[in-house]
Amino acid sequence: MIRLTQIRKSFGRNEVLKGIDLTVSKGEVVAILGPSGSGKTTLLRCINYLERPSGGQIEIGDLRLECKHPSKKEIHRLRGKSAMVFQQYNLFKHKTAVENVMEGLVVVQKVPKEEARKRSVELLEKVGLGAKLDAYPSQLSGGQQQRVGIARALALNPEVILFDEPTSALDPELVGEVLAVIRKIAKEGITMIIVTHEMNFAQEVANRVVFMDQGAVVEEGAPNELFRSPKEERTRQFLQRMT
Ligand code: ADP
Repeated sequence: MIRLTQIRKSFGRNEVLKGIDLTVSKGEVVAILGPSGSGKTTLLRCINYLERPSGGQIEIGDLRLECKHPSKKEIHRLRGKSAMVFQQYNLFKHKTAVENVMEGLVVVQKVPKEEARKRSVELLEKVGLGAKLDAYPSQLSGGQQQRVGIARALALNPEVILFDEPTSALDPELVGEVLAVIRKIAKEGITMIIVTHEMNFAQEVANRVVFMDQGAVVEEGAPNELFRSPKEERTRQFLQRMT
């Protein structure tokens, strides 16, 4: 349901994605691993056009977009198909938890406020924040803020949720509650691409693991295979450093 073909991205002369091919099936959970600076975040941001790829093709569901010359309408449609969960949560500071979750529904999807609120409350309950509906981000822990971020992504009912190192800004004791929520929604069959440094989590939750280095996919495979017997030396070295 998602097919990336030869995705390229340069910042000035720095080519940070060197022709990425990646296919993700409906309901699949794909973890992307790799050293810092290998292009993982840039790849995620290209999938919903927070970054404009320099070349390649993105297919999600019934949409096929040539990155060289997309129309505004195609970009708009592409953005509607995915939702991002950010490292730094990116919540509106002056809106409550429930208002943060409602925002996209009301503003982008034009859902009536009453209905948007109802759905947002349900989603906040689902991520364990039923008691924090009216709290502002500053009144929430990092783990709670990230769970609001996840509820906000779910609210848009996207075809794929893109997680950009969702736990890397959290204090260690708060990581578990966020991973538990991601684990729960993974079981519901939502398609997810997760950039993470949490190796145990990736191994447990992902159907497939993709290892990137220097702007390219080095190898990919089932978590058990890739973690136990990586084929490429670069993967082996990375995994050794991480564990
Ligand atoms: P990763 O997520 O694997 O750590 P990134 O995708 O964040 O890697 O970064 C890949 C490379 O792209 C890095 O060299 C980084 O400095 C560069 N880069 C990322 N974003 C920008 C930007 N907005 N402008 C210039 N260079 C960038």
